[in-house]
Amino acid sequence: MTAIRLDAVSKVYDGEHLAVDDLSLEIADGEFMVLLGPSGCGKTTLLRMIAGLEPVTSGTVWFGRTDGTNLAPRERGVAMVFQTGALYPNRTVQGNIMFPLQVAGEDDVRAGSTAVGLARVLSIESVLDRMPRTLSGGQRQRVAIGRALVRQPEVFLLDEPLSNLDATMRTELRQEIGAMTRDLNVTTLYVTHDQVEALTLADRIAVMRDGRIEDVGTPTQVYNDPATAFVAGFLGTPRINLLAATVRVSAHHRVCLDFGGQAIGLDPTDRRSLILRHHDGVRVVVGARSNAFRLITTEDAPNQVAGTIHAFEFHGQQSIAFIQCGIEVVDPDRIGRPVATPVNYAGDRRLVARIRRRLGRASATPPLEPLVASHRRADLVVELPVDTELARGSRVHLAVDTSRIHIFDQTGHRVDRVTR
Ligand code: ATP
Repeated sequence: MTAIRLDAVSKVYDGEHLAVDDLSLEIADGEFMVLLGPSGCGKTTLLRMIAGLEPVTSGTVWFGRTDGTNLAPRERGVAMVFQTGALYPNRTVQGNIMFPLQVAGEDDVRAGSTAVGLARVLSIESVLDRMPRTLSGGQRQRVAIGRALVRQPEVFLLDEPLSNLDATMRTELRQEIGAMTRDLNVTTLYVTHDQVEALTLADRIAVMRDGRIEDVGTPTQVYNDPATAFVAGFLGTPRINLLAATVRVSAHHRVCLDFGGQAIGLDPTDRRSLILRHHDGVRVVVGARSNAFRLITTEDAPNQVAGTIHAFEFHGQQSIAFIQCGIEVVDPDRIGRPVATPVNYAGDRRLVARIRRRLGRASATPPLEPLVASHRRADLVVELPVDTELARGSRVHLAVDTSRIHIFDQTGHRVDRVTR
């Protein structure tokens, strides 16, 4: 086992495509870290750089106290499992699992018995004599995992290992991967774009976007206390409501969030109120999950929004209502593209710096771009009790629990900065 530290790592493909941008991250010895993010954000590239399959353009990869940036893959103590585990087609399951031990010079009897033990843990003991082509997708991935772990790697890297499996198999193998890596106490980096996998498996999640990390924390931290609007929008089903608002400050320093016709007030003791009371007229984004609202009957209660039910969905434990309330919504994918910090490259600094300048990421100050709001009339997504008697077209009043909302600035960062 070993800790991993990525120090300002960047990757430029073909001299012009910045896939990983000045990324720093520490993964503790024995930790299970999930890299989560949308397609193309650089997750696989980062994993391949740690494995040594892709050279870094600049920056340093540390394994414990060893600078591993230029080590060959086999010198890194790293094992990797891909989306589709490529097995040796002419070897049996047992032959596949024991192969790395044979290559390392272990005798066949000991290698065989180690493989059998691992197959037992992975529930593939009954197919040890079968050839890969006769296995199901789930069994094949188990063999690939067994073969990766048989030499007890220091670091275990998994690149979307469950994405080709059906839902039942995914859940089962997910739980087994979690249990096994913790039993072995191996430092694990797991790439996925599936938030459920990330939330259920990780000790910590690093949420990536455009080659950078937007937030890193425990599943509870990134879900309940997201650092940016993008992270808030990426985690959670249904998706968080992101509503465009303008800060209004009254003569008595009372702070309201004006949604254009509807408004909610912040408690004067709320930290965000203290921050925003000097920002009258500033545009912000209010993030509110579907459970931050409560159905009320009085029209004159404070801190409420009103609207008309546009559609209902029955979800078993609760109903989800889509409510038209005339508030502009913000697209989490467009708000606040990543912002650069000063660069100190250890490798090909000039190339990376040139590309970052071209992408407008050279400045240390966040660019204040206009808030991107949709002009359609918002569908506020709200959880309602299943026994609600309301129907489509009903007018509803919803109390907003301001302790459960997040307020983001125009760059997508929380106005009350998140420190972990
Ligand atoms: P996915 O979830 O779809 O696999 P990802 O987050 O793993 O995506 P990467 O595969 O790391 O993303 O790709 C990051 C960016 O780098 C993408 O824009 C991709 O097109 C680009 N890229 C990846 N590999 C290469 C390559 N060999 N040559 C050029 N560009 C590449």
